[in-house]
Amino acid sequence: MSMIEFRKVQKYYGKFHALKDIDLEIDKGETVVLIGPSGSGKSTLARSVNGLETIQSGQLIVNGRDIADKKTDINRIRTDVGMVFQHFNLYANKDVLENIMIAPRIVLKMNEDENKKNAMALLDQVGLADKAHNMPSQISGGQAQRVAIARSLAMKPRCMLFDEPTSALDPEMIDDVLGVIKYVTSQSDMTSLIVTHEMGFAQEVANRVIFMDDGQILEDDKTDVFFKNP
Ligand code: ADP
Ligand code: ADP
Repeated sequence: MSMIEFRKVQKYYGKFHALKDIDLEIDKGETVVLIGPSGSGKSTLARSVNGLETIQSGQLIVNGRDIADKKTDINRIRTDVGMVFQHFNLYANKDVLENIMIAPRIVLKMNEDENKKNAMALLDQVGLADKAHNMPSQISGGQAQRVAIARSLAMKPRCMLFDEPTSALDPEMIDDVLGVIKYVTSQSDMTSLIVTHEMGFAQEVANRVIFMDDGQILEDDKTDVFFKNP
């Protein structure tokens, strides 16, 4: 069963052709790493999966729903598909726990006790149970990114998109965040698409690696095959 399916997808920014005839199918449970030079369209591809970028033609089917179809409820897709960006954008005036609890409360109407229990369990999983009542300004960038991941997971997504999740971090914080992503992607029912420049990490977590250049997919291979290529 596919979680994400691009069929002849074209994306333009004005006259600039950012995604050129993309065909791509990602099955449920896969962990796919997307690599390629800066400006090759990786972020555009990832962002189009939850409708942050609109495509101009083709079909993009996410968990059975065509994103290009105007009848599709994009909010439903964004509930199914969590996204973690380079910059974590936590709510600065709310503590860590509250940052995680907001979306489930508002969007899922989760009851307060369950929401809190769930949020604390997630904080524990990302190694930050003791930071629940810190404000975002009182934690490091790496910790904030782990909170951002917990915040996405609180919505119980079926799929996670990571767009260069460690690129903005100080080097000593990268491994902690990659460790959390590794843990998330190891959950067998989670589908993940990860844009990253961390090749060692890619080799460890991905079952498949896609190489993009100039808006096109140039390689799409099982991880072991990809890294055997010269
Ligand atoms: P990558 O993630 O591989 O670095 P992006 O998907 O961010 O690449 O960008 C692909 C190309 O599209 C780049 O040339 C970038 O400048 C261009 N681009 C991205 N967003 C916009 C935008 N909003 N308007 C115009 N061009 C854009
Ligand atoms: P990223 O860190 O994702 O590569 P960028 O610096 O490429 O971020 O882009 C930051 C924002 O600017 C994004 O919203 C992107 O869509 C937009 N953007 C990127 N390239 C261009 C461009 N050439 N023209 C207009 N907007 C752009």
